[in-house]
Amino acid sequence: MAIAAEFHKFPPIEGVRWFNVAVLVGTPLVAVCGLFFVPFNWRTVVFAFAYYLFSMFGITAGYHRLWSHRSYNACFPLQIFLILGGISSVQGSCYWWARGHRSHHRWTDTEKDPYDSSRGLLWTHVGWIIFKSKLRSGPVDSSDLGKDPLVQWTHRHYFPLAAFFGYALPALIPALWNDAWGGICYAACFRLTVAHHCTFAINSIAHYLGSTPYDDVASPRDHFLSALLTMGEGYHNFHHQFPMDYRNAYLWYQYDPTKWFIAACKGLGLASNLRVFPSNEIAKGALTMKLKHLKQVQDSINWAPEIADLPIVTWESFQVESKTRPLLLVSGFIHDVSSFLDQHPGGVAYLTKNSGKDMTASFFGGVYRHSNAAHNLMSMMRVGVLAGGGCPPNQSVPPSQVLFVATRHQDKTKSV
Ligand SMILES: [Zn+2]
Ligand SMILES: [Zn+2]
Repeated sequence: MAIAAEFHKFPPIEGVRWFNVAVLVGTPLVAVCGLFFVPFNWRTVVFAFAYYLFSMFGITAGYHRLWSHRSYNACFPLQIFLILGGISSVQGSCYWWARGHRSHHRWTDTEKDPYDSSRGLLWTHVGWIIFKSKLRSGPVDSSDLGKDPLVQWTHRHYFPLAAFFGYALPALIPALWNDAWGGICYAACFRLTVAHHCTFAINSIAHYLGSTPYDDVASPRDHFLSALLTMGEGYHNFHHQFPMDYRNAYLWYQYDPTKWFIAACKGLGLASNLRVFPSNEIAKGALTMKLKHLKQVQDSINWAPEIADLPIVTWESFQVESKTRPLLLVSGFIHDVSSFLDQHPGGVAYLTKNSGKDMTASFFGGVYRHSNAAHNLMSMMRVGVLAGGGCPPNQSVPPSQVLFVATRHQDKTKSV
């Protein structure tokens, strides 16, 4: 059972955080009741969606990219907007959230990572929030957050602020158009449930689903689905490599509304000093991963025998051997073409009658200018090197191995 396997990855449980359970169970229960018993009011639906954006940008542009990573500067009114948005998503104070998140980056995939991916999807999604365990977040420098008066004031008054901006305000505003129940069920509880699980997906799905285009040492991954759920935070492989960058989606066509929101704030004069990692360094990470994939493909292919492993054959023994089997000399290599006789487009006879001859000029254009594929295939038939035979340097390497991918400690001359 997949679920049972997920529970198996949990650390020993020492208790339950009942307050968090009440929020994470009670809120969706009210939302579901609303779906059954409270009719839709389109003004409330539009308001709930707008309030959802307020909550999510508060987390992604505020708690995350501004306070956890300091990836840009925000003017004070924008800071107030973002921190209240973050509070309205009822996920803890900015101080608590940002310290935990810095710990996640500093100690990724270890026991000190508060949402350590090796504990499974269920633990990283909600397990760590509702269960007590011996695990503790690793230490990080949060002195800047300790000195930030807005972060500290909202930390001290978090619970009344969360009750007001998370539940009361979104419930009260639709009362203005006589839809208080819609406000409670949709703008407050339904919006919160979606915001909770979309944000939690950054810790769970974004460390599980997708590709690793910049580095594959740790678990973070890039995926459009998690970006869709998280206002662009799903390009998480990029984010863990370049966490100070205000963008999570580096490429222009990737979906990152938080990046666009921050850029728009800059355009309006509300944000400044948007930090970006040098493109040249980002390109290095991307190239490294592409080469790594190419190396895996290369290692899965059979190549011509190593030159050093081939016997050195004299002209005389080449002549003797070529009487018993079709052997052709091309570029200083002796090739046994017996397995290829039937497939040679130029006919069997042409190969057999020239056994024991130097066919270099014919092969490279004298009779027919062979394709790269023919050159590659020919190299697989190498059985010896002619003693004293010269080989033009550009013809000893089959075309498929000209761009051979070698690891740093590997002597690439051995493999070509
Ligand atoms: Zn992460
Ligand atoms: Zn982060």
